[in-house]
Amino acid sequence: MTSAPHILVVDDDETLNRSLVSILGYEGYRLSSRTSAADLIETLDRDRVDLLILDLGLPDMDGLSALERVKRHPAHCDIPILVLSGAPASDASAEAIGLGAADFVAKPFRLKDLLARIDSHLKTGRALVEARERASTEGTLNEILESLAAATSPAEVYQALVRRLSAGLRISRCSIVLDDENGETGTVVAASESPALRHLTIELRRYPELLGPMVTQSRLLITDVGNDPLFASVRELWRIEGRLVPTTSVGTVPFRIQTGRAGACFIRTAGNDPVLTPADLELVERVIRAATPALDRTYDYETAIRRQDEMRQLAETDPLTGLFNRRAFGERLERDLASASRSNTVLSCLMLDIDHFKSLNDTYGHSLGDRVLTQLADLLRREQRAMDILARLGGEEFVVLLPETGVRGARIYAERILRKVNGAMMGTAENPVQITVSIGLATFPDERVTDPDSLLRLADLNLLRAKADGRNRYRD
Ligand code: GH3
Ligand code: MG
Ligand code: MG
Repeated sequence: MTSAPHILVVDDDETLNRSLVSILGYEGYRLSSRTSAADLIETLDRDRVDLLILDLGLPDMDGLSALERVKRHPAHCDIPILVLSGAPASDASAEAIGLGAADFVAKPFRLKDLLARIDSHLKTGRALVEARERASTEGTLNEILESLAAATSPAEVYQALVRRLSAGLRISRCSIVLDDENGETGTVVAASESPALRHLTIELRRYPELLGPMVTQSRLLITDVGNDPLFASVRELWRIEGRLVPTTSVGTVPFRIQTGRAGACFIRTAGNDPVLTPADLELVERVIRAATPALDRTYDYETAIRRQDEMRQLAETDPLTGLFNRRAFGERLERDLASASRSNTVLSCLMLDIDHFKSLNDTYGHSLGDRVLTQLADLLRREQRAMDILARLGGEEFVVLLPETGVRGARIYAERILRKVNGAMMGTAENPVQITVSIGLATFPDERVTDPDSLLRLADLNLLRAKADGRNRYRD
């Protein structure tokens, strides 16, 4: 799994260099050698070095100052350095060790001794690197959890997760997909490359790298994307994001949310990113596990809000027609009348009652009567403007509130309703019926209208006049 440790030898003694390279190469290490410390940092930048063997007596730069530069460098300070020197051991070694060299070996040295030290420093160096990586992982994890604490919706949690995972873990692309549980589609709820994305429906069978792990709830890691036929679909995903970057590796970490719905965190590396390893997937899994309480909390919150909305809606709705009921209408009338009064605008109210509805019930039965009520409600809905408020007051009596509508507009509206009702075929195919309605209008401002009740009373009065005058008409 791990490649051979890379040892860089920097010594001006070419003979010693060559023999070290050949001996250590024989021991299975990967060797590079240089005869000067110039460009040492640049060399370390280019290629990861696990151990540096440094001669103190270098010509172009004092070995000690080269040592110091490496030790001060944030990216390279952890590389163990074995210092070689022909100088008397005491002074130089004290100084070198003081500057952070791991060890000091005086020339000439015994090969066995040198090999033992190299082995031991490589082990320590590796442990140090791992400890640092773990620490940075913990830091990332804590940072992610902190950012989730403020989230108030699952969408925010998912957004924060992809943002943090892609940035903190240097995974170039990260997205979260939920199974829609219809056997066909999934929803991309967050994608690091499209921060504004909230819902993108995808056909899961086209994304086996998502579907498989979600169904089996096991991770997937593919490190040779170019050779895998599965990845036509990954290229599809790239196209959604608007550009094509060669993917190098992909990983999927499945999870389940509290309802049992399956989800997957999908990560991809591209271009020069380091290829994904099982450790990366492990980390994503840890992050998702750590995010579970935040997800549960926000899902609970959303469910509570939705229930509240549903309850409110239920309390405001007439179950037969789906229109507002009397109470809900009363609240809106009060609000709109106050607003009309404040802003000196007009407002009309139209009260509507089916003519001879009792005899329709008596002839065809109550259920046909119910059907006619819903058909009339649908007809009124079709004539509704966005700001109009429609309600069933009870029985076969309906009311429409027309904001910003004066007498003229209300009359036109009433005439249109009468015409449409007259022209509508209602009931069922076996029992088609035609109905008429009577309408009473009231418009604010009017000296008789001082509050919601007086507006409704006026409309009702005019409705009775319409009935008395022969029905199938309006009065104002
Ligand atoms: P008018 O032209 O004077 O309005 O006569 P009408 O028969 O329509 O009026 P009336 O107030 O005498 O009768 C209303 C009828 O509406 C009585 C009742 O059976 C019926 N009704 C009330 N609520 C419902 C309902 O929810 N479903 C059905 N099918 N009928 C209802
Ligand atoms: Mg009636
Ligand atoms: Mg009535």
